[in-house]
Amino acid sequence: MIGNPHIDTQARRSVLEQTERQRTLSPTIADMVRVANEPGFRRWLEQIRATGGCAHPIYLSGHTTWADPVSGDIIRRYSTESEPAGRLALRCNNRRSSRCEPCSYLHAGDTYHLVRSGLTGGKGVPAEVREHPRLFVTLTAPSFGRVHRADGRCHPRRHGGLCDHGRPLGCGQTHQDTDACVGQPLCPDCYDYAGHVLWHALAGTLWSRWAHAVRRHLATAAGIPQTHFPRYARLSFAKVAEFQRRGAVHFHAVIRLDGPDGPDTPPPPWGTAERLQEAVLAATGQVAVHAPYSPAVGDRVVKWGTQVDVHPIQAVGDAVVSDDTVAAYVAKYTSKSVGDAGGTDQRVTSLAEISIVAVSPHIRALMRACWRLGGLVEFADLNLRAWAHTLGFRGHVLTKSRSYSTTYTALRSARADHQRQVAGETASGVVVVESAWRYVTSGHTLGQAWFAKAIADQQAHARNDARDARAVRCFDVAA
Ligand SMILES: [Zn+2]
Ligand SMILES: [Zn+2]
Ligand SMILES: [Zn+2]
Repeated sequence: MIGNPHIDTQARRSVLEQTERQRTLSPTIADMVRVANEPGFRRWLEQIRATGGCAHPIYLSGHTTWADPVSGDIIRRYSTESEPAGRLALRCNNRRSSRCEPCSYLHAGDTYHLVRSGLTGGKGVPAEVREHPRLFVTLTAPSFGRVHRADGRCHPRRHGGLCDHGRPLGCGQTHQDTDACVGQPLCPDCYDYAGHVLWHALAGTLWSRWAHAVRRHLATAAGIPQTHFPRYARLSFAKVAEFQRRGAVHFHAVIRLDGPDGPDTPPPPWGTAERLQEAVLAATGQVAVHAPYSPAVGDRVVKWGTQVDVHPIQAVGDAVVSDDTVAAYVAKYTSKSVGDAGGTDQRVTSLAEISIVAVSPHIRALMRACWRLGGLVEFADLNLRAWAHTLGFRGHVLTKSRSYSTTYTALRSARADHQRQVAGETASGVVVVESAWRYVTSGHTLGQAWFAKAIADQQAHARNDARDARAVRCFDVAA
């Protein structure tokens, strides 16, 4: 075939134009081209694939040498010298999906197993726990003022009316879940910001008093002195804190009643699911925590909201609320954070910083309330300024009692063992004789972030297909 010089020139020009476009059009594309042309690009992709497409990988450089413990022979040596840029990418392991989607997925998987083993046994928990009374409980914060809602018509008011600040008391519109106004107060001046952040600051205390009250109610119903409760039964739980759109946390908890020595012992005959349910409802309406008195905000009492949800958990098969659905539901929430409620995951260090951080006006007002009250001597113990970014809430996202089930550490070490076996190394019979590692840097450039995102999406797709095949059911607690 004879080449057409005209077309060749055109083709060359179009290639040149493309390069020029890449240079000028988008910094991301330009950086992608740079990354793809770097030596060791394929190996770098492999590293990122191994992190699951982590959005903020940590780069380390160093080496490890393994030897046979008997002969002392060097069996293997790994060094980052041969890696691209002499470094190795590791997962950031952040549980928050707003920070790193792929790592939060891994964390949610751990949470699932952690909660599930507490419900069905396994991973060191006896299978008999299935027969123990188990409840799925949702506890909420009370209302601190009207906020725009997406479930049905938002605060309809036929006869209108205005608040003291001249704003309408009702709304009457139908909002979409994605609307920016959802979760924002109808009147910011009417909203009880101080009450909201004090509730967060004392929510942990409220929870422990509540758990205590549940035990007390059970003891009373059984006709035994409260102090004798531990001789008969033990209450264990796993709970997650979830930020709602209005910026208030609520708790989803799995509660289980065991015998006196935990999951290995059967609960006493009086410890039925019905009794446990009654005790939970009674305790929820009763417990209260008094905030320290403050001339600025007066006397404040922290209580649960009226929205309470209690479901007995049944084994898979005949159940509306089954072991698997509860574990999946709880796991889903550990990957959420205040960031998902329009807040921020970063600590703030000054009032000036609060005024510029990218959050909604409502979240900003909550952060300001933390800062303002945090400066008062009577609230010093609540550490409100240090926790302004989580709106005063100091708790962990997932907490569980010691006897509930396995731990994250146990699950991580099991996973590391598994990975070692996959890599062809046995955990025993080899010793590390020398090891030195240092931190190099973390995160991606624009182009690297694009490749990592593509890898993460690909792996998420593969997971979704697998999940569809398993047909895991989900349910809505609000329903
Ligand atoms: Zn990550
Ligand atoms: Zn509204
Ligand atoms: Zn008002």
